[in-house]
Amino acid sequence: MSSKRVRGNPGLRRGVGAQTTDSDEIMEAPHGDWLTLRSDQLLEWIDNAVYNVAEATGMRELVNRVTRPIFNFGQRVSPYPLHLGIMCCAIEMGQASAPDHDIDRLGVVYRSSPRQCDVLIVNGPVCEKLRPKLKTLYEQMPEPKWVIAMGECAISGGPYWDSYSVVAGADTFMPVDVYIPGCPVRPEALMHGFLTLQKKIREKEPGMFLRR
Ligand code: SF4
Repeated sequence: MSSKRVRGNPGLRRGVGAQTTDSDEIMEAPHGDWLTLRSDQLLEWIDNAVYNVAEATGMRELVNRVTRPIFNFGQRVSPYPLHLGIMCCAIEMGQASAPDHDIDRLGVVYRSSPRQCDVLIVNGPVCEKLRPKLKTLYEQMPEPKWVIAMGECAISGGPYWDSYSVVAGADTFMPVDVYIPGCPVRPEALMHGFLTLQKKIREKEPGMFLRR
């Protein structure tokens, strides 16, 4: 194989990488003794190895039982929504963070990168042009993640329900966990929506270290 196809630094011996990675994706170094893996392949290999050992030794259930309440608590009390505003309901979202309401008290801290978020607030009408971008943002968020449909526009299209260019609700193209009706949604209602989400997270207990 040509040396041009080798990327990154040699990291794993052939025998180790060959067990978990497609042979086409393993890139052989010119001298033939070392292999390289992309970072996502390496993480997948580590993930599989840890999982298999935990499963074989019966540690998986024990680890999950111990870590589940801790992870669940962290996810519940510190939801990180994406700092995304679509239309008028986004103004109310901003007001909820102002001193009058101070939604930070619930642990709600906005982040600007989907990679750092676990909650997506859809807060306005989603037009057909925006839909693929919004879906991409959702897919870029790590698991576990939740979606709040804030306002009538996000729930059903609102005043634009029969428009040719507006999607009839966020749940037509992504899963929605909490619906907050209103036009606009008041800051208090948004806070109640987050409390509802916290309750949902507590009941589902998605927080665990080894989830498969
Ligand atoms: S629900 Fe009402 S206030 Fe909210 S974005 Fe739609 S039109 Fe604006």
